[in-house]
Amino acid sequence: MNVVLFGPPGAGKGTQAKELAKHYQIPHISTGDILRANVRDGTELGKEAKGYMDKGELVPDEVLIGIIKNRLAESDCKPGYLLDGYPRTTPQADALSAILEEIGMPLEVVLNIDVADEELVTRLCGRYVCTCGESYHMKFNPPEKENVCDACGAELYQRDDDKEDVIRQRLDSYKEKTQPLINYYKEKGLLVDINGTGAIDRVFSDISNTLDQYK
Ligand code: ADP
Ligand code: AMP
Repeated sequence: MNVVLFGPPGAGKGTQAKELAKHYQIPHISTGDILRANVRDGTELGKEAKGYMDKGELVPDEVLIGIIKNRLAESDCKPGYLLDGYPRTTPQADALSAILEEIGMPLEVVLNIDVADEELVTRLCGRYVCTCGESYHMKFNPPEKENVCDACGAELYQRDDDKEDVIRQRLDSYKEKTQPLINYYKEKGLLVDINGTGAIDRVFSDISNTLDQYK
């Protein structure tokens, strides 16, 4: 199953991807998680990416294209992949098509998760995350024990870019550079719209009902 989870920051891509990866036994590939791990480890890539991420801007295409090419070549992607946060620009989408053609794993569906702007800001302002990739919300999706990850027991933290001014910049970048991909994938007949508002379980049912057709 070869899937892109598409949508603005805060749409619930990471939240849904965690569950979908378990349910369908395919890897969840989040370029944001890969970049944050590089920032934490102090790699050259992390040092280059940090400045862009802190400002809520996109990291340059050539960096992301290299990351995704290497990641898709790993053996756990043989049964499929669930991309989250990539592609975010037309050059990234074009590069993805070329990479997928080369490895013979063409995209089957792009799930466009739709949520209104003000709801996105509320979600991102209250988001707490774990280095293991789990994402919580202080009101909408709290962990069982305050500030502790249900999955791995580590302490939760707020992302540096989940501050209101940076959130607004990320939403602007999304509108300017990423949103045009909706038409790009619509024209290729790959786009399926998902209503991302409402209970997390309800959104999961909608997505899995769609994805079951690609099993
Ligand atoms: P994305 O990966 O698209 O940026 P996340 O999955 O991290 O978004 O979700 C953003 C925030 O919204 C998190 O705090 C998450 O717990 C919360 N969230 C996710 N889905 C929902 C939902 N259906 N209703 C309310 N809050 C949600
Ligand atoms: P995310 O975790 O998806 O919200 O991404 C966090 C940040 O990482 C973004 O605001 C960008 O700075 C950077 N980033 C993640 N994925 C990409 C991508 N595909 N292209 C450019 N920048 C990205």
